[in-house]
Amino acid sequence: MKIIMLGAPGAGKGTQAKMIADKYGIPHVSTGDIFRANIKNGTALGMEAKQYMDKGLLVPDELTVKILLDRVAQDDCKKGYVLDGFPRNIPQANVLEDALSKLGEEIDFAIDVEVPDENIVRRMSGRRACVSCGATYHLEYVPPKQEGICDTCGKELILRDDDKPETVKNRLQVYHEKTQPLIEFYGGKGVLKTVDGTRDMQEVFADIVDILGE
Ligand code: ADP
Ligand code: AMP
Repeated sequence: MKIIMLGAPGAGKGTQAKMIADKYGIPHVSTGDIFRANIKNGTALGMEAKQYMDKGLLVPDELTVKILLDRVAQDDCKKGYVLDGFPRNIPQANVLEDALSKLGEEIDFAIDVEVPDENIVRRMSGRRACVSCGATYHLEYVPPKQEGICDTCGKELILRDDDKPETVKNRLQVYHEKTQPLIEFYGGKGVLKTVDGTRDMQEVFADIVDILGE
């Protein structure tokens, strides 16, 4: 099963993608996580990507597409995967479609997690991410057991640089301009499913399970 998560930054794509990955036993592939791991390890890719990420801009396709195609070519992706944060524009979607069609494969579901812009700044200013394992919390909606500490691995929780309100505004603008057209793109392919992302995360997940099947 090959799934794409669509939706604004902070809509809950990562939260739902992790739950899908657990339930269906497929890898959660997040280009944002791959870039953040590279930044943490100080790689050349990480240094380059950071310049764009900190401004709320998309990392250029020349850097993004190859890391994604390499990742989904790995063995653990043979039975499918859930993509979170890719594609983010029409050219990326076309590259993915071409790569899959060479293998006689296609995307099964593109799930759009709908959340209005008014809710997004609040979601993102309250998001806290683990510096070590990437687990995500929210100060109000999903607080960690101990303030500032990851429940899973005990490391520090941080506010991502790109979750600061000034950057969030840019990210939303980029989303509307570059990423939102993918909703129509996947609608036209007959694989688009929409869920109401403003509800409780377990309710959102129940809707997704209805779509994907038990
Ligand atoms: P995305 O991957 O789309 O950027 P996340 O999954 O990281 O978004 O979610 C953004 C923030 O909102 C996180 O702090 C997360 O804990 C919180 N969150 C996710 N889903 C919900 C929900 N249904 N209700 C309330 N908060 C949520
Ligand atoms: P995310 O973790 O999905 O919110 O992504 C964080 C940031 O990483 C984005 O704001 C972009 O700067 C960059 N990024 C992640 N995925 C992509 C992508 N597919 N194309 C371009 N930039 C990306």
